[in-house]
Amino acid sequence: GDEDSDSVTPPVPSISASRREHRWGDTTSYAAKKKLQSWFQLPSGRWELVKILSTSGTESVLSLPDGKVLKVKTDRLVSANPDILDGVDDLMQLSYLNEPSVLYNLEYRYNHNMIYTKAGPVLVAINPFKKVPLYGNDFIEAYRRKTIESPHVYAITDIAIREMIRDEVNQSIIISGESGAGKTETAKIAMQYLAALGGGSGIENEILKTNPILEAFGNAKTLRNDNSSRFGKLIEIHFSDTGKISGARIQTFLLEKSRVVQCTEGERSYHIFYLLCAGAPLTLREKLNLRSASEYKYLSQSSCYSITGVDDAEQFRIVMEALDVVHVSKEDQESVFAMLAAVLWLGNISFNVVDNENHVEVVEDEGLFTVAELLGCGVEELKVALSIRKMRVGNDTIVQKLKLSQAIDTRDALAKSIYACLFEWLVEQINKSLAVGKRRTGRSISILDIYGFESFDRNSFEQFCINYANERLQQHFNRHLFKLEQEEYIQDGIDWAKVEFEDNQDCLGLFEKKPLGLLSLLDEESTFPNGTDLTFANKLKQHLNSNSCFRGEREKAFTVSHYAGEVTYDTSGFLEKNRDLLHMDSIQLMSSCSCHLPQKFAANMLSQSEKPVVGPLYKSGGADSQKLSVATKFKGQLFQLMQRLENTTPHFIRCIKPNNLQSAGLYEQELVLQQLRCCGVLEVVRISRSGFPTRMSHQKFARRYGFLLLESVASQDPLSVSVAILHQFNILPEMYQVGYTKLFFRTGQIGVLEDTRNRTL
Ligand code: ADP
Ligand code: MG
Repeated sequence: GDEDSDSVTPPVPSISASRREHRWGDTTSYAAKKKLQSWFQLPSGRWELVKILSTSGTESVLSLPDGKVLKVKTDRLVSANPDILDGVDDLMQLSYLNEPSVLYNLEYRYNHNMIYTKAGPVLVAINPFKKVPLYGNDFIEAYRRKTIESPHVYAITDIAIREMIRDEVNQSIIISGESGAGKTETAKIAMQYLAALGGGSGIENEILKTNPILEAFGNAKTLRNDNSSRFGKLIEIHFSDTGKISGARIQTFLLEKSRVVQCTEGERSYHIFYLLCAGAPLTLREKLNLRSASEYKYLSQSSCYSITGVDDAEQFRIVMEALDVVHVSKEDQESVFAMLAAVLWLGNISFNVVDNENHVEVVEDEGLFTVAELLGCGVEELKVALSIRKMRVGNDTIVQKLKLSQAIDTRDALAKSIYACLFEWLVEQINKSLAVGKRRTGRSISILDIYGFESFDRNSFEQFCINYANERLQQHFNRHLFKLEQEEYIQDGIDWAKVEFEDNQDCLGLFEKKPLGLLSLLDEESTFPNGTDLTFANKLKQHLNSNSCFRGEREKAFTVSHYAGEVTYDTSGFLEKNRDLLHMDSIQLMSSCSCHLPQKFAANMLSQSEKPVVGPLYKSGGADSQKLSVATKFKGQLFQLMQRLENTTPHFIRCIKPNNLQSAGLYEQELVLQQLRCCGVLEVVRISRSGFPTRMSHQKFARRYGFLLLESVASQDPLSVSVAILHQFNILPEMYQVGYTKLFFRTGQIGVLEDTRNRTL
């Protein structure tokens, strides 16, 4: 009896009954009384479908699939859906909406290669980690003709195109998810659909070819994903009046520079380095004095050179071809490769300690000479830039030898900076090639592929920025799917029970408040010459401890309660990464080069460091560049991004990673559940089920469908016409509400009107 029930008490803190009740308002006793199937969570955490044998008061006797009989507290049971609802297309169709039912439904579909499921307006995509037969021209055609209805990236992209044309509003497809969840693949699938429907001018091929280029330069193998994007990307695809693609524009965010000079065991640096080493033709190899990847220190430190199933040499040819397609000239391509080789050789430059104060000189070896050759600068100038710092004091210039660690930092900073400039320059070239002509119609569909929430054992500045970005995106998601929705109902006088949702404004405030927020305090500390990561951490603890989303930790750490969970950040390296200083001597070196790319980069570095003072200034050492901090620049980019997204109709795709092993057919419930909770998918379903997601103003509705009226209406005012249309089409009263200015419909109601309209037109 009771012992049995104790032995199955889950040791893991799972969702409590009360939270379930709060979230779903789901009463389990009904299922128990009717002896229906229910969900029961085993000690392992796995939910099992059980049969209820009897119920007495607060306890029930149930049988597990293996025949075992248990007596448990009835409130530990969660209603399961009838078999007929197994694997429904849209979670909104579930009779019982609870976490185990949602998990089971997604798993059922996943096991049948149906990796896409709707969660109301949101598309959930579960990474199959294998080829699934869902793509290609036949499928594109079928979705275009609407002969297939099952959820798909194609379907949501099709909606975006139609809404762009119908409503004359720009659209956005916002893809989110953890690293390795399938965002980048999903973005490419959406682009494929857009290219197929809006193709014809040839520019669509150019747009598709930007993918291999940006992936080669901006993706790397990490422990989580063999092809992990180390930058965020927004691609805005423009359409002409006739619905054809007329051009595109790419914006990138926060490339992970540190990877160029440093990467973890088992990970790789950016793909392009390995592609170049493996695939460069002989003449190029000789020109650049190229070696194999293992001979470069930057690449050899992580002892990982290849990726299973990837032929780097072949990839190199693909990238070269793609560069041709986006009109990067052969000379420019060679310059690009020379910069890559220069970065690699920079890593091989070493230093000799020359006195007992650890001051150094550059070793005169192949590394030094090759870098000078590739950049087109003098060997002496290069040596000086890497081992000496000039400082202006009053009218005098003081020359100081660098210590070993300073010299290494200077060298690495130069390598990182060259790579980042190269990446920016490439994006600029691509944008020039894809530029929309002067005659732009202004209609566009943007696809956002940006790193999802990250929480590792050790979280640094990168995670700090990424998770901040995700808070912003989550707010956008919330605003659109919950807040605006509710506000609109209330404004329009619609009776509608409020739905609670998790607001993340407090956490955003923790980041953005001035002067006492995480970002402001970080910038402030970065301006102090004596500021250290420890003094920064202490300031946070001193000023932010009263904030409910903040918790100081021991020593240099602090914890933030993000919408997706708590993350503890280690502030080691925060100040340096935020300052991201490049010494003036390095910039001067670059501008003295005879090659055109280094000169361009120098101008770029200089313009960045001479930005009008919007953010804080950095003036350590006197001769260093003054520039915006990384966090401030990122925040600016993010605000700009949000502004652009605010002017579009958003379509959300949530990518889910079913396991951490990148392997097919493995569905880990706990991992999936955690991701579903993080991105608010479950609440979205609930809100959509109870709401009226489709809406149109009386005027628009009357204008759009008025001509379908079979009998004339006495009054021509939009509301009367609208009501007449609703009657003629037999739209049931519970399926719509008439607001002061708009009509509100439950999902799927407007379809019959649209179909009739399309047939009639
Ligand atoms: P993210 O961008 O979210 O980090 P990716 O899009 O790079 O993740 O996906 C990681 C890997 O998962 C891909 O390299 C691919 O092997 C696999 N994958 C993702 N989506 C699909 C899909 N729709 N079909 C087949 N494999 C996929
Ligand atoms: Mg990616």
